[in-house]
Amino acid sequence: GVISAVGKSKSYSYSGSANFLPPGLPKSLPPLPNLLADMLNSDSDSIHFASSDFGNIVRHAPVAVLRPSSLNDVISLVKSSYGSSTPFTIAARGCGHSIRGQAMAHGGVVVEMLSLREHAMNNNNRGRTVVSSVYDSHTQKNRHYADVGGDTLWIDVLHETTEQGLTPVSWTDYLYLTVGGTLSNAGISGQTFRTGPQISNVQELDVVTGTGELLTCSPSNNSELFYAVLGGLGQFGIITRARIALEPAPTRVKWIRMLYKDFGDFTRDQERLISDNRRKQSKGLNYLEGILLVNQGSPDNWRSSFFPPSEHARILGLVKKHGIIYCLEVAMYYDDHYHDYVDKDLEDLLGGLGDIPGFRFTKDVSYVDFLNRVRPGEIQLQSQGLWDVPHPWLNLFVPRSRISDFNDGVFKNIVLRNNITTGIILVYPMNRNKWDDRMSAAIPDEEVFYTVGFLQASGFHDWQEFDQQNRQIIQFCEEAGISIKQYLPHYRTREDWAKHFGIKWCNLCQQKTQFDPKKILSPGQMIFS
Ligand code: FAD
Repeated sequence: GVISAVGKSKSYSYSGSANFLPPGLPKSLPPLPNLLADMLNSDSDSIHFASSDFGNIVRHAPVAVLRPSSLNDVISLVKSSYGSSTPFTIAARGCGHSIRGQAMAHGGVVVEMLSLREHAMNNNNRGRTVVSSVYDSHTQKNRHYADVGGDTLWIDVLHETTEQGLTPVSWTDYLYLTVGGTLSNAGISGQTFRTGPQISNVQELDVVTGTGELLTCSPSNNSELFYAVLGGLGQFGIITRARIALEPAPTRVKWIRMLYKDFGDFTRDQERLISDNRRKQSKGLNYLEGILLVNQGSPDNWRSSFFPPSEHARILGLVKKHGIIYCLEVAMYYDDHYHDYVDKDLEDLLGGLGDIPGFRFTKDVSYVDFLNRVRPGEIQLQSQGLWDVPHPWLNLFVPRSRISDFNDGVFKNIVLRNNITTGIILVYPMNRNKWDDRMSAAIPDEEVFYTVGFLQASGFHDWQEFDQQNRQIIQFCEEAGISIKQYLPHYRTREDWAKHFGIKWCNLCQQKTQFDPKKILSPGQMIFS
């Protein structure tokens, strides 16, 4: 890129990868205050980095990248755009683990939020997690919470809270994601059925709105902003701090997988376990997911190597015989006090399930290793150069009443027939009553719904084949009248977004006008731009 100084302020024009910019987009920023302009980068490495994401499918170049050293830099940038007669778009970028350019800003400025984390670490402020406790006279117990920067990685939150014997309750499977990034979506994993998504476990936020105002919000203070931001796809403000609920941390986890050949048995047991979780004296399961095993050479996958190698052939024999094997995965946390009861509790909870006899496998791991179970696989893929391939992922929420039709129409008819799937297919249920409908996140209108994740990796030249399969899946659902919602959604038209958000849409449009009137923030979601 080319940087030119103009008088007391600097203006930015863009030449590095101009071919990324379609006609009509601004190729330069309006003059900015010197201090801020000094922090903007438009060298080709910075632009290249901010023009890509984990999906590796789309590329949209910004004019410049801001590496903020403090919250004030973020505020100044947004104010500069908002105050200008030619406002430019701004995207907060966490880890860029989006799939379709959601954290990109075509012709605008990308804010590398991780730069705040680096500055905090360099200043010996290791992370940005501050743990506090208050006495709750209502429950007569201490209530614990952590204040964390929007740029903080969940892995840091895990380490810094467990050091103090505490932990957040709701997680994602993979922890190298920022708090701001997952709270803009929902943050789901096997805990969601019990604790709700991560957005259900936030007590307060600091947010820089699209006018450059820094506001604190919570259910009782600026509540409209609070609910809009949670699951709000970055549209209403940049999250700079979140207050996350904590509980005492367990130390160990019993982690179990069992196999099913019949989808009806598999989902019946999943639903029974999430509804009837705390039977008798049991404290119940803490985690429940499900994985499809289709013929891919190994029953394990990069997200977790679980099955004993000596059992692989036996499991693959089942997969070969039945085409698809459904793997139910559960976990129960425990600590020293609970040590003597955990096995009996699990036996009670898992007794009478319809899994295939002789195919239950158990692991006993530390709590931190369990939550960070995806990381070793990532490191291995990184070392093989396989982490940066295209990822044409598709994540859906499917209403419970149609999950059997989904199995017949999608898993059996599309996935098995196409036989191109290289990656992981997750399928597990969650309870709607653990979500808060005042938040922006869109979910199906049924008490129980499933998340289905097609987490595929492709070659650089064949991702279109997977994309085609994703379209086929969505088309099947449309034709069969299955009211799916996309998670980590990607739409191109206003009509599709309106349909996605349903009855929340009108409200969201008003909130956009209120909190980001010049439509500056997170343009890569392509909702209002
Ligand atoms: P980015 O991709 O950088 O940003 C996502 C969106 O949020 C963009 O629109 C961006 O502008 C906006 N944004 C970023 N930071 C902020 C902020 N501070 N304030 C406001 N808006 C902001 N998700 C789950 O729920 N559960 C999982 O188990 C899970 N596993 C994953 C595993 C892998 C390997 C990957 C790559 C992704 C996974 N995800 C999962 C998806 C993940 O939650 C989303 O991609 C999320 O957006 C990633 O966070 P990020 O920090 O990389 O955000």
